[in-house]
Amino acid sequence: MNLQIPTPISGGLILSYRCTASCRHCMYACSPRWSAEWISEADLEAILQSLAGKIEPSPWGAATMSLNHGLHFTGGEPFLNFPLLCNAVRRAKELGIPSLFVETNCYWAKTDRGTREKLEVLREHGLIGIMISINPFYLEYVPFERSERAIRIAQEVFGVNVAVYQLEHYRTFKRLGIRGRLPIPEFLKIKGGGKLTRNTEFFLSGRAPYEMEEFDLFPKYPAESLFLKPCSPAFIRSWHNHFDSYGNFMPGYCGGLSLGDCRCLDELLVAGIDLDSRPLLSYIIADNFEGLLGFAKEHGYREREYGYLSKCHLCMELRKFLVRAEDFAELAPREFYDQLESG
Ligand code: SF4
Ligand code: SF4
Repeated sequence: MNLQIPTPISGGLILSYRCTASCRHCMYACSPRWSAEWISEADLEAILQSLAGKIEPSPWGAATMSLNHGLHFTGGEPFLNFPLLCNAVRRAKELGIPSLFVETNCYWAKTDRGTREKLEVLREHGLIGIMISINPFYLEYVPFERSERAIRIAQEVFGVNVAVYQLEHYRTFKRLGIRGRLPIPEFLKIKGGGKLTRNTEFFLSGRAPYEMEEFDLFPKYPAESLFLKPCSPAFIRSWHNHFDSYGNFMPGYCGGLSLGDCRCLDELLVAGIDLDSRPLLSYIIADNFEGLLGFAKEHGYREREYGYLSKCHLCMELRKFLVRAEDFAELAPREFYDQLESG
């Protein structure tokens, strides 16, 4: 049976899973330990050509940014391979893809001059904006001064097209007078666990359930109580999907899952997903996590006695087990499952 999927109208292009950081909340389990496999020129071209004509601009126009419109370049940390980032922006611009922006942890913003140079070069290639990631998890790796510098200079280069994700944390760090980096245990001593996620979007997905368990900040639930909780945002959707450096068309923020090959996106959209060759997707798309748990148990999975921090945690646990049991095409890239703990 084949399932038709909507045409993607926005999303992120993961240039590599390699990153300078290994954040405890990373949904894609990125880290410096990933094999440094950057997207090839041929795959970059194939994906950008597939997306051209499909990606929709921000509601305020193609020269403005909006997190759930346009195309953003991400990782991993895209500034680790600046020539590739420039090339990707230039080619996307040539193909007419609107509302192009980059997402970064700002590790590279060490001096005013170097920061300005990089941002101006990107603007010349066609980039219109930047999303700067700030929260206590990044702060373990990136000195706050670098984030501040990047925001200040980015506003001069890109004007209003600068998003700080998340502004609430930026304000907290300013109020606290943070300088340099701060380990999470130190941050918790100062602000308490509630400040990690209060008033901000936070997904207990990807690496987060594994890394946050030790802090005992979140309740655990038995698997059966999570069956009725829907995936949020919806699993199959047109907006903010991801396209990775291996050619995986990743649904939304669901790291380690592949709907198919985004290098052949048009064929995938016409033919639909072949669910017979991706049996785990059948359960997930039907929101049948009871069935997925039963399937994993048939393969030898044992339910966690102390429960799960979230539905995504349950999903990850089942996939993490199944990826070692059999070769499921939808569990990709496989290295994602080896990188879930930050090490
Ligand atoms: S959250 Fe961002 S900065 Fe942190 S490891 Fe993941 S990709 Fe790198
Ligand atoms: S439960 Fe699984 S499929 Fe649903 S949103 Fe979470 S990671 Fe994605």
